Amino acid sequence: MARFRWPDGQVTCPTCGRRDVRFIPTRRIWQCQSNHARRQFSIQAGTIFEDSPIGLRKWLPAIWMIANAKNGVSSYEIHRAIGVTQKTAWSMLHRIRLAMQSETFDQMRGQAAVLKIAFERLTEDWQRDTRHLSFDRQIAMHPSYQAIIGMGPAALPLIFDALQNELDHWFYALAVITRENPVPQNEAGHMEQMRERWLAWGRRRGYIQQNAA
Ligand SMILES: [Zn+2]
Repeated sequence: MARFRWPDGQVTCPTCGRRDVRFIPTRRIWQCQSNHARRQFSIQAGTIFEDSPIGLRKWLPAIWMIANAKNGVSSYEIHRAIGVTQKTAWSMLHRIRLAMQSETFDQMRGQAAVLKIAFERLTEDWQRDTRHLSFDRQIAMHPSYQAIIGMGPAALPLIFDALQNELDHWFYALAVITRENPVPQNEAGHMEQMRERWLAWGRRRGYIQQNAA
């Protein structure tokens, strides 16, 4: 198995190893600055999920949900939470359960753990560098913040967890990743109210475990 893309929280080109890769938000992929074949890549490249028609961004939250649920997860919950059809959710659940009986699940869980570490390091960098900034746009344009957005839905459980623990500017990332906005116009800019709206949204969609340990 190829190594996960971000062992130290730094996105690198899978072909040449360059670290100053550029994130393209509209397509949610990265592009290497060198002119070679396969210069555009996703976080899925080089992982055990690569040959799956279902993206890593859908697999990781599903694995996360299954690994963290005390009373099991239904295909309906997966369907609602990650936006695949219920038929697809059922086959994902089946495949993950089968994998849980083999070492593949450890590999998958290992990747989910690596993703969490990457998320935490990116968050640290972002918070350290933007602590003294007050303009939302500057805060949201930080490369580490953009990289978190690039993780897509796989980052949602991690963002909601962070938002529960500490009030911070996660709202732009949430809106970009989910393409939704549960905050009414008159509450925009009111951090506490925005947090409550988003946390309610996250609970409805199953991204926040109600009775997690
Ligand atoms: Zn490259």
